[in-house]
Amino acid sequence: MGTYAISGCATGIGAAIRKRVEADGHRVIGIDLRDVEVVADLSTREGRQFAIEETLAACEGRLEGAILCAGVGGHIGNNALVASINYFGVADLLDGFFPALQKGEKASALVICSNSAQLMPDSVKTPLVQAMLAGDEEAARKIADEDCEGQAVYMLSKNAVGVSVRRRATEWGAAGVRINAVAPGPIDTPLLQGGLDTPGIGQAIRDFKVPVGRWGEPEEIAELVAFMIGRHGGFVHGSIWYIDGGADAMTRSDAF
Ligand code: NAD
Repeated sequence: MGTYAISGCATGIGAAIRKRVEADGHRVIGIDLRDVEVVADLSTREGRQFAIEETLAACEGRLEGAILCAGVGGHIGNNALVASINYFGVADLLDGFFPALQKGEKASALVICSNSAQLMPDSVKTPLVQAMLAGDEEAARKIADEDCEGQAVYMLSKNAVGVSVRRRATEWGAAGVRINAVAPGPIDTPLLQGGLDTPGIGQAIRDFKVPVGRWGEPEEIAELVAFMIGRHGGFVHGSIWYIDGGADAMTRSDAF
């Protein structure tokens, strides 16, 4: 049994993943704004550094897994915050935990991306994604605030997250650490509810009909994550798996 760091596990998808990982007998070090072992704000560089240091101290420098779920929706009305939490809250923790994962037994990292990550054309070429991938948080925050609409910042932050997972796959695989992402569609969580409650955005979410005719449950994401990080998923590496009731296939049937 191993030790897993899970960010964003106070509620929603992260909480369901925590429960599933603990049911397999693993120890979890939760990182979130409240109700977890490591209370930290991942929107700031200092908060992320604190989260990394506290987690590494708690696991004595060895992790079997890191599952990064913390994120906010594009509806929150603070685009810079979306950029910082959704991208830098993932990328900094991945790099901060990499040495500890290398010491773990068959360790793997998993990131929660989104099925919206590919919805904007040429996302990776946009100034926001380029600033994120360059690690320039100040520039990314400025572009997000001044040049983008909230939902676009969300989608582009998730695109950058997906790219950052795939860009690490070669080095991490050679180091014996797997890294993957899941890309959920609408899942019944507080984040989705926040979108539903936001004028303009709520109706658009309701109008978007998922092929299977319903939204997903956090436990369904947790089950896929358990497979991907577990021993049966040992050859899954550098992948982004859509779990969205067919929404991506409906909107982008010829792109895969
Ligand atoms: P949620 O709001 O239930 O969970 C998000 C968690 O992140 C919360 O526990 C919250 O406290 C934490 N968090 C937010 N800001 C933080 C900060 N500054 N520092 C530390 N922790 C912070 O929402 P969820 O739907 O479970 O979201 C989990 C992940 O799934 C997010 O990355 C989200 O973008 C992604 N996702 C969600 C959906 C969906 O429809 N719910 C779809 C695709 C992707």
